[in-house]
Amino acid sequence: MNRDDILKSLMTADLAALCAEADRVRREHVGDAVHLRGLIEFSNACGRDCLYCGLRRSNREVVRYRMGTDEIFASAAFAAGLGFKSLVLQSGESAQYETDALCALVRRIKAELGVAITLSIGEKTREEYAALKKAGADRYLLRFETSSDVLFRKLKPDSSQAERMACLHALREVGFQVGSGIMVGLPGQTVEMIADDIFLMQELDLDMIGFGPFIANPETPLKDQGNASLDLTLRTLAVIRIVMKNVHIPATTAMGTIDPEGRQKALRAGANVLMPNVTPTVYREMYQLYPNKPGLKQAPSDTFETLVKLVHSVGRTVAIDAGHSLKPAPSP
Ligand code: SAH
Ligand code: SF4
Repeated sequence: MNRDDILKSLMTADLAALCAEADRVRREHVGDAVHLRGLIEFSNACGRDCLYCGLRRSNREVVRYRMGTDEIFASAAFAAGLGFKSLVLQSGESAQYETDALCALVRRIKAELGVAITLSIGEKTREEYAALKKAGADRYLLRFETSSDVLFRKLKPDSSQAERMACLHALREVGFQVGSGIMVGLPGQTVEMIADDIFLMQELDLDMIGFGPFIANPETPLKDQGNASLDLTLRTLAVIRIVMKNVHIPATTAMGTIDPEGRQKALRAGANVLMPNVTPTVYREMYQLYPNKPGLKQAPSDTFETLVKLVHSVGRTVAIDAGHSLKPAPSP
């Protein structure tokens, strides 16, 4: 697709036809299996002040928590016992966790549980990334959020696009499978910017795309902005699948928040991954990047069953492997 085709697809193309084409490309390039990655939100402590996020440091309404590494391991073991072959460890950005402690946790999870580990813990130094990779972490998720430098600075005042890009390049260089992406429907974002975002995703040659709709959080300065529409979110997803072909794309929880059928619709529009929350129930209400996340009260085991049913309801199968990158490994 050239830029004009992308813009047309984002704005005026027939949605059903676009999703059907994305679904065809998904089937051809990544097959019918849906990968389940259990998400453990191990701390909501955050020193950054991203305008969109409920965990921003200026939000005094949040009770902050940090799970200890033994507690994180116990959650990981529980999730692995349920059948998850792949876990995502996510948190706010805080120096509270020493990289050494995180490395020890990663080593223990790899040695005792053998699951694939994705980290989503924000901007760190190249040395820290290298240490985490060496400890055995497989993948790293760090969304660039928007390719517009101006919008980025407005929304993420304590970072810059250049710093984010440097992190993404460092992650690749130290050997991670790299995931990145955007929020769709950010205040101030245009469809032209989304087209640029998609070109940047291609340029970065990503293994995974993390993306979802912006949802206004009442405890942030963006509280009065409208949520992203599911229509634009699905269009963006479909275009990403059509142009990027063999990448992993989750039907994110945020899609299930703006529409009760959001994740099913996403699975039919190119998505091939689900990331159910396996965080201990007691912490879930405290980890609200955006409000009304579904499954806040659900026990992790219920979530697993629900997810398997969801996958079957759209005529797909649950993957039995760890779901590593679909791209050829770089030559040594
Ligand atoms: N602190 C880490 C990881 C946690 S935030 C980081 O920032 O990278 C994970 C993702 O949640 C962010 O990348 C952002 O895209 C998304 N997010 C935050 N607030 C959101 C909101 N209000 N609506 C939708 N997604 C949001
Ligand atoms: Fe912190 Fe990440 Fe939220 Fe920004 S998006 S405030 S870095 S948790």
